[in-house]
Amino acid sequence: MRRTLAACAGSLLTLSSSLSFAAAAPGPYGPYGPYGDQPAHSAPAQHPPQPDTAPPDPAAAAIGSPALSGSVPQTVTSDTGLFGTLPDLGGPAYAMITRSDEDQIGQMIVAQIRGAHLLLEDPEVDDYLQQLGMRLASQAHDEKQSFHYRCMNDDEINSFATFGGNVFMFTGLILRTRSEGELAAVMAHETGHVVQRHMARAVEAESHLSLASTAAMLAAVLIGVAGHGNPGSGEAMEGAMAMAQATAFQKSINFTRSEEIEADYVGIQLLAAAGFDPQEMANMFETLAQSEGLEGNEIPAILQNHPVTPERLAAARERAAQFPRLAHYGESEDYAFIKERIRVLAATPDQRIDQYYANLRVNRPLTPAERYGEALTQIRDGRGAIAVPTLHALQAEYPELIMLYTALGQAYASAGQEREARAQFAEAERLFPRNVPLTVHYAEMLIKDGQPDQAHALLLDLFNNVDPTPPQIQLTAQAASAAGDTGDAYYYMAQYNLANGELGLANQELELALATPQLSTVQRERFRAQLLQVRDWMREQQQARHGG
Ligand SMILES: [Zn+2]
Repeated sequence: MRRTLAACAGSLLTLSSSLSFAAAAPGPYGPYGPYGDQPAHSAPAQHPPQPDTAPPDPAAAAIGSPALSGSVPQTVTSDTGLFGTLPDLGGPAYAMITRSDEDQIGQMIVAQIRGAHLLLEDPEVDDYLQQLGMRLASQAHDEKQSFHYRCMNDDEINSFATFGGNVFMFTGLILRTRSEGELAAVMAHETGHVVQRHMARAVEAESHLSLASTAAMLAAVLIGVAGHGNPGSGEAMEGAMAMAQATAFQKSINFTRSEEIEADYVGIQLLAAAGFDPQEMANMFETLAQSEGLEGNEIPAILQNHPVTPERLAAARERAAQFPRLAHYGESEDYAFIKERIRVLAATPDQRIDQYYANLRVNRPLTPAERYGEALTQIRDGRGAIAVPTLHALQAEYPELIMLYTALGQAYASAGQEREARAQFAEAERLFPRNVPLTVHYAEMLIKDGQPDQAHALLLDLFNNVDPTPPQIQLTAQAASAAGDTGDAYYYMAQYNLANGELGLANQELELALATPQLSTVQRERFRAQLLQVRDWMREQQQARHGG
């Protein structure tokens, strides 16, 4: 089913905190936007927000297995959590922040972080994190809550949960986990903050702020935290807000100690329900504590907000021990490979990641995942011919790992063996139809190979069946352009700009799309409808800016 894009309010993010409208109403496509899984931003309306009328379903709040029930710590006062407690909708936080408000703040924050180039947006990494996250989040059985797991390209040991179910996992933290269970444990903890709606409570103290100001401040905090020592992030901060103000705000929104305990508690339940060893939460605490020792006196960022006290560790061990031990826990083969992929993608040129693998080889043979990582560096450096035999062997050993098929196709292309590359991708696409990372890389190869028509067709099919990410929309525009479909190319660039909150640019692209000669009637109507919608949103934003 084809979906159109919702409006964006990204430029709101640069507004100062003097912005006076009280709250933003859901956009025309509902609070979750058209993509569900992707940021789609709704313009503020002039009318007051509609309260979330549907109360959480207490029946849906209980996790299926009886093993998951248990004594609830005193600190748990959740409204939509795992414990089936009834919502407290009378509190000021709930009066202020509705779920659709939360979604909009989350969307605005993501647009800003994306705009500051702090995300590692890679098809394989995104796909993996989202699937792993949903494996945990789905155990909360909270159908009204959306969850988005994203990778922050930053070496800090850190992670965040923020509004709209947006969880940011830092590359530095992912690379330091020792197992998929440990990674899942951090994600489960952050998911715990989301399902318990801790963000809504945290901004209670700041309830005089508008949604846009809240989003701007939170984005500034996250960008400031992630962008330390990151060139260009200073610019991103500029105009968002003053650092001192952001720091003060951050203090006010830090989760309380009892919320951290609650997130651990819920996280352990999610881990167990998703088939992970619930002891991984405590294991991860130990890993974090060790990384503190390893890196001198510097306390990992995550420990500053999440200090691992002996009490916290003991509580996590004790809670996990209440679940029956299983002979086998469901850890995927993907984890180790994705970790090496992140290591390669996150490495800066001066880090000489090829040398990293060469150094490992001196002492021991590389693991299969490390051989994959090394192959990726070879492909990237134009030495794909060396990677081909490695990837052939790995693909035979791990026939379920789609990323190996893709890498082999890319290795062939990098080695100048175009015919083999095409055959490899075509066969993989036949085995794993509509797999997003595979199809995206296949289309990239086809565009490079001078077959934009086929790339355009593949991407359109994907676009119409799976919610696209902004980089995917951009690639679709590129394919349309290369295929000579200029009108569609402008249209997709407009969609891309909308996804990033750039209403003005989207307006320009749509005008260009409409000015393209020889449009079909269908195209003209689609472009015009979108243009009218964008202009409506721009007007609303203008009015909101002037206090309308
Ligand atoms: Zn936490």
